[in-house]
Amino acid sequence: MLRGRFAPTPSGLMHIGNARTALLAWLQIRQAGGQFVLRMEDIDKPRSKAQFASQALEDLRWLGLDWDEGPDVGGPYAPYQQSLREQLYEDALGQLEQRGRLYPCFCSRAELLAVASAPHGLSAEGPAYGGTCRNLTASERAERCLHKHPSIRFTMEERDIVFEDGIAGLQAFPPGAGGDFVVKRADELFSYQLAVVVDDIAMGITDVLRGYDLLDSTPRQLMLYEALGATPPRFAHVPLLLGEDGKRLAKRHGSISLAAIRERGVQPERVLGLLAAMSGLIDRPAPIAAGELVGGFTLAQIPREPVIVDSQTLEWLDMR
Ligand code: GLU
Repeated sequence: MLRGRFAPTPSGLMHIGNARTALLAWLQIRQAGGQFVLRMEDIDKPRSKAQFASQALEDLRWLGLDWDEGPDVGGPYAPYQQSLREQLYEDALGQLEQRGRLYPCFCSRAELLAVASAPHGLSAEGPAYGGTCRNLTASERAERCLHKHPSIRFTMEERDIVFEDGIAGLQAFPPGAGGDFVVKRADELFSYQLAVVVDDIAMGITDVLRGYDLLDSTPRQLMLYEALGATPPRFAHVPLLLGEDGKRLAKRHGSISLAAIRERGVQPERVLGLLAAMSGLIDRPAPIAAGELVGGFTLAQIPREPVIVDSQTLEWLDMR
């Protein structure tokens, strides 16, 4: 039985890029007769807002998507909000600690950003962590703890990481990909990398379909699966939607939020038709219901290149 999920972070309004990822994740699971989970990734409490969480559920329902388990419908792996699952993350840290995979890091933000010659970390981060605090002695650690509350890092093993992506194809990352990374921040927040892996294991997720921006997080997550003694899911990363300036969709590209689109009176079938055309499921935009896209859906249909949201796209959504 396939189990997939959509896992939005409620730190803003969902836009058509998020909706496309949700649609494709849903289609993959519905086509296979599997179970679809909705998980609210509100682990970063200062950035998350309850109003965005409920808006996301409403937007997805409006599009015609449904889920078998989720924050509003419950299910065998409840709760489905990360903010209510912290004990699981703490337990996982305990296991990793026992296996000698964690260490405290006292580096300041400025120190982390200053390593100009270091190899790149994730696209969303600065340079890869150089390992400054990896080999501190017990007494050095104790001494530094007197002055600063540390973050906790996970040790990456020094070997190639290779995996087959369901859309992007064979991926190979060099040893240490992105460097040792933070699993618990100095302000006590658990990191996305830890929470997402712990939850996907606990919820029995077999297939992860998500945005291409998370492709370079996958080596980290694969090492976490291994360190926790779990089998990783299959991964598929969908190319992003870009603005005409070639940058990721953002506020400057106009009101492409689903909330704003709905407010203009655009019908969900029109949005779905656009998303389907952008994903190679139909030849050109034409209104269609989500259910009509289920039969015959395969990942092979999805183009490997990013899609540009141009003026024609915006016109289709009544934005002129
Ligand atoms: N919560 C993440 C996001 O909204 C997605 C996590 C994932 O799919 O692994 O970007």
